[in-house]
Amino acid sequence: MTQRADEIAANLSAVRRRIADACREADRGEDEVALTVVTKFFPASDVRILADLGVRDVGENRHQEAAAKVAECADLPLVWHFIGGLQSNKAAAVASYADVVESLDRAKLVAGLQRGAHDRGHEVDVLLQVSLDPPGAEHRSGADPADLAGLADAVEASGALRLRGLMAVAPLGEDPAAAFTRLAAIRSELLRTHPGATELSAGMSGDLEAAIGHGATRVRVGSAVLGPRPPVQ
Ligand SMILES: *Cc1c(COP(=O)(O)O)cnc(C)c1O
Repeated sequence: MTQRADEIAANLSAVRRRIADACREADRGEDEVALTVVTKFFPASDVRILADLGVRDVGENRHQEAAAKVAECADLPLVWHFIGGLQSNKAAAVASYADVVESLDRAKLVAGLQRGAHDRGHEVDVLLQVSLDPPGAEHRSGADPADLAGLADAVEASGALRLRGLMAVAPLGEDPAAAFTRLAAIRSELLRTHPGATELSAGMSGDLEAAIGHGATRVRVGSAVLGPRPPVQ
């Protein structure tokens, strides 16, 4: 193995160990929590190393970078998760290569995603991104929890999108456990009206243990596997 492959392999085992430990701590089975490795800012050669190490799910957050990497890695048996902010004029393009779109946060995006998925002839899995910011916070990334049921209805009414669950990012400057406690309640509420929306994508390099403790079924880990990214994003 190359030095880079050794480094990624070691980091990946450490992350898998953290996930296993958190599952044990939370009295959950290890197989209840899946890992997406977030490859944004890292080259396709790293994605190849990950695939060799048995990683199946990878995540990207920027359309142009994602599209190029998916094309470069077309021979690999990967599941591509789009986890970044979506512009409505890019939604169809994203759905043309993403297998899972985790960042649907407004109804306006549904038509574009639906069109991209339909043109490609594949169903695309969708997670609704919900904001965990306190009410009234200036910058909200994700839907208001009050809007989720309506968004979920819109996804279910579309032919080529499959509603799978929720995605969230813990706000900066707050104990992630408190944010994920709110997330667990939001999820229970959504499950009452949309019982198929069972997936919960939450937890990153810094807070995956707290997310697993509050029901995450998938963690999205970047820097703990691939190393630090450039500071400006
Ligand atoms: C970058 C990113 C991650 C991974 O973050 P790390 O702290 O590097 O693990 C997870 N989720 C989203 C939405 C991201 O944009």
